[in-house]
Amino acid sequence: MTMRGLDRETATAQPDIALARRLFDELARRTGTRKGITRASYGLGEQIAHDMVRREARSLGLDIRTDAACNLYVSLPGRTDGPGVWLGSHLDSVPLGGNYDGAAGVLAGLSVVSGFRKAGVVPPRGVTVMAIRAEESTWFNASYIGSRAAFGRLAPDELDSVTRASDGITLRAAIAAAGGDLEALGQGRPGLRPRDPGLFVETHIEQGPLLLARGIPLGIVTGIRGSFRYRHAECLGAYAHSGATPRSERQDALKAVAALIVEMDRLWDRRSAGGEDLTVTFGQIGTDPAEAAFSKVPGKVRFSVDVRSDSQATLDSVRAEMDAIIDAVSARERVRFRLGPLSTSQPAAMAPAAIDALRAAAVAEAVPAITMPSGAGHDAAVFAQMGVPTAMLFLRNENGSHNPDEAMDMEDFACAARVLSRLCLDFGA
Ligand SMILES: [Zn+2]
Repeated sequence: MTMRGLDRETATAQPDIALARRLFDELARRTGTRKGITRASYGLGEQIAHDMVRREARSLGLDIRTDAACNLYVSLPGRTDGPGVWLGSHLDSVPLGGNYDGAAGVLAGLSVVSGFRKAGVVPPRGVTVMAIRAEESTWFNASYIGSRAAFGRLAPDELDSVTRASDGITLRAAIAAAGGDLEALGQGRPGLRPRDPGLFVETHIEQGPLLLARGIPLGIVTGIRGSFRYRHAECLGAYAHSGATPRSERQDALKAVAALIVEMDRLWDRRSAGGEDLTVTFGQIGTDPAEAAFSKVPGKVRFSVDVRSDSQATLDSVRAEMDAIIDAVSARERVRFRLGPLSTSQPAAMAPAAIDALRAAAVAEAVPAITMPSGAGHDAAVFAQMGVPTAMLFLRNENGSHNPDEAMDMEDFACAARVLSRLCLDFGA
């Protein structure tokens, strides 16, 4: 297809922003509480959102199907068969959360296909909008339930061992109530194969302040950070009298942890200067109030550490360097560190071809966009790990997410939808 032909087609296929605006308003009205938005995974709010998307898809004459875990797929056929563009995100929210986390990605997809439908434009390949179930781990204390189930990757025991924190309902009962197929889930029958999407793009509000600070509406995600964490670490020294114990005799656990924190901050600074992606956070630290006192050298400190990077190599080498720092601090301060259980998650790299396709679409639409990693986890990580060419588009958003003050500008949303629309017209052309 010639550029001229593409330009003409794009000009007649503006995304249907009015539809998105109407649905955001309806979501706020129907899933809002006095303090924020609540769309519980496999609960009332999420179901309302899924029913709304289904209703709109029906009125647009799109193909509609659900899988065993009640993920919803609405599709607009393309000119030719073959793997097309998939646009999706989740429709659940945290309790008392915001209206845009998750829903923005689904409504962006819906506004793109509605724009095509209303303009009579048939894209080169089919476009599927996927509304994913149960992404927020606050409800069931399990990550990515919907997307993992779609690929047949839910462990059979999870149906009974995973329960909803608010009411103790098992995942099995919750999915059954939503109309899911428990036999298929138990057998790990996928509703979606990794080769079905030619490209999966999850559009999501940014949950940090970077785009706002830079004055840029869109971010193209390079990778979803993995992590290693010690949630229950401790440092053991010896309690001693603050006046009577000389410096040379002290085994000050707090001073040792402080030294570790400072050394890790220097490490972070060095690695960042070298171009590595990294965050280091000591989120909890404290002496035991029952044992510590203002006139005692601290003998025991509990702390947590959370290290994230988009590179597994960085995570591995930072962990090794942290161990070396701990050895040095332990010897110098005459203390012992017990790090406790380690939990890890793998980084998920976005596909270079998918990143390039998004970047080209943003340039074509003259929408400023920067590349950036995602610090938080998303369903896109599951798609990437299943081998689907995956990308993410971040939308500028004020006040973070998972709170009622999420503030996405509809102008920015319209920019994202235009980029997605262009991507769909270019893919497979
Ligand atoms: Zn989300």
